[in-house]
Amino acid sequence: PYSGPSAADILLKRKQFLSPSMFYFYNKPLNMVDGKMQYLFDENGRRYLDAFGGIATVCCGHCHPHVVKAIVNQTNRLQHSTILYLNPAITDFAEALASKLPGDLKVVFFTNSGTEANELAMMIARLYTGCHDIVSLRNAYHGNAAGTMGATAQSNWKFNVIQSGVHHAVNPDPYRGVFGSDGEKYAKDVEDLIAFGTSGHVAGFISEAIQGVGGIIELAPGYLPAVYSSIKKAGGLCIADEVQSGFARTGSHFWGFECHGVVPDIVTMAKGIGNGIPLGAVVTTPEIAEVLTRRSYFNTFGGNPVCTAAGHAVLRVIERENLQENAHVVGSYLKERLTTLKDKHEIIGDVRGRGMMLGVELVTDRELKTPAKVETLHVMDQMKDMGVLIGKGGFNGNVFRITPPLCFTKEDADFLVDVMDYTISKM
Ligand code: PMP
Repeated sequence: PYSGPSAADILLKRKQFLSPSMFYFYNKPLNMVDGKMQYLFDENGRRYLDAFGGIATVCCGHCHPHVVKAIVNQTNRLQHSTILYLNPAITDFAEALASKLPGDLKVVFFTNSGTEANELAMMIARLYTGCHDIVSLRNAYHGNAAGTMGATAQSNWKFNVIQSGVHHAVNPDPYRGVFGSDGEKYAKDVEDLIAFGTSGHVAGFISEAIQGVGGIIELAPGYLPAVYSSIKKAGGLCIADEVQSGFARTGSHFWGFECHGVVPDIVTMAKGIGNGIPLGAVVTTPEIAEVLTRRSYFNTFGGNPVCTAAGHAVLRVIERENLQENAHVVGSYLKERLTTLKDKHEIIGDVRGRGMMLGVELVTDRELKTPAKVETLHVMDQMKDMGVLIGKGGFNGNVFRITPPLCFTKEDADFLVDVMDYTISKM
């Protein structure tokens, strides 16, 4: 049993010693002290079904024994910087990771986070093309450093710092977007942006396959193929941000971009790649990767032995435990049940997503699509009290984000939907 400080003690210390900008979920935040697969345990030993941990970090499940073993073994043997000497952990994982990517995407640069990965990807695109302009989507989240905060396009995550060379295109959002599900109409906006907002040449385009922070927005069908072609015509590179949608999460495919039938020039990843261990990566072609030889380039801990041992273990677990198939089967079942809930509750305006990356948008008026912000918080809080943790997102904070570890079962899905149904019914 846990005998450490209580949630109240921790909160007090946090207020004193941690950044005032840190936020937490729930009015009374939980003190989580243990984790096992799809479950979290608080200070009192109370168990919660974690239907949001998948996005935060875990893809195989909390403390998956195979991943833990790989981390412990490598830590006992050697932990060091990635630079200076050779070590098999990084090359073995790079080879395994490259084998999961299509075409010529075979060269891996490791980082410590998604922000770092996207910063590097954008810099590579700028170096390769000799252009500065990058197109990203409104409502996107790509990170919080200088360049990536520019690419991020939700005012609540942006500070008032100089944003240079980024153009934000109309979001191909099938639920709220002006062109509904017509991907090609939205793609025309990118053509206009290039023609009227740039010299006609661009460095690249960056987007998520399914916007995560933005509230589980699946890009309208036909959008990415059309935009990729416009970007290529303008000499730019296409960057797929797979920080949330990668690593088998969509179920139907290993990478989110594959759902759209495109092949990017650069793919970035983080979060699920290490099952909670800080790790990110940029994968590109040998030709594009060459630009970084113009100067010395390194990242002290990006791809260190311990983190890459974890990453390699994650790939093995996804394979061995058929997690992609599970994400597809259980995720589709869960989406079906949530869709049925929509027929029952007027407040559910939309159910969307793929595999284990699902969103439920709450609105107080289905016609006007008025965001039901207060209700979203209320339902989340009540569900937590009944032992189910889900996330929220979207610009208005009115979208439930359901992104469990990929080991989530059909029984877990039933429990989640029953609890959501009960909570909404009682409202
Ligand atoms: N890209 C996407 C799609 C993300 O969701 C995030 C984090 N929410 C990032 C990049 C940035 O990753 P990190 O927080 O690891 O820097």
